[in-house]
Amino acid sequence: MNMKFELEKIYRNVPDDEIIADIKRVAAELGQDFLTMSQYGKHGKFDNSTPKRRFGSWSKATVLAGLGKTKIQQNTRLSDEELFKNLEEAWTKLGRQPRISEMVPPISAYNAGTYKRHFGSWMKALEIFVAYINADKTEDEAVSNVENETTSVDELSGQVFKHKTRRGISDRLRFRILMRDGFTCQKCGRSPRKERDVELHVDHITPWSKGGETLPENLETKCSRCNLGKGNAFNE
Ligand SMILES: [Zn+2]
Repeated sequence: MNMKFELEKIYRNVPDDEIIADIKRVAAELGQDFLTMSQYGKHGKFDNSTPKRRFGSWSKATVLAGLGKTKIQQNTRLSDEELFKNLEEAWTKLGRQPRISEMVPPISAYNAGTYKRHFGSWMKALEIFVAYINADKTEDEAVSNVENETTSVDELSGQVFKHKTRRGISDRLRFRILMRDGFTCQKCGRSPRKERDVELHVDHITPWSKGGETLPENLETKCSRCNLGKGNAFNE
């Protein structure tokens, strides 16, 4: 018997357009103008959970790949949350409020017409979006909710920290920090408003693993370049 010992391939930092290109390739090979997640699971180069993790949802990944909707997707109304999440991303990529003409790939998976149909008008969509962002008070809830209390251990010192907040930063809290910081890296001052390829992240100032809480005063905006420079690379 031939025992073959192979390492599982790890695709960690695959660029977005490579994932999109692979989705297009599979659809073309199957001769379809749409692609389901399970079809991609059979024929794709990457795990079929990868596009979802990268782009927020499978349907968004297929929209970015220029594919049509499946029958199931056609019958599913887009949720407010999905449209808000896409708007957050477009806003973050531009570093400011998107204009109607800018709501196209690769900035946005859904165009302004989709927002108009869903919310009544583009302005109405923006108003509801801003209300949605401001309504979220997860950071206050996290502090008052004892059930959320959790602990982390610093691997080097073995020190144990009790937390009042969760490690994960909610989409809405992240967006509020980006707004507060003017969509500008707090370390180097770069912003997508001036340079299109600047990618912004929201990060803990004192890492969560060192006792830092997920609260506005312990969160800041950093560009991907400055974010990579820090020691605790897995800290969100
Ligand atoms: Zn920076």
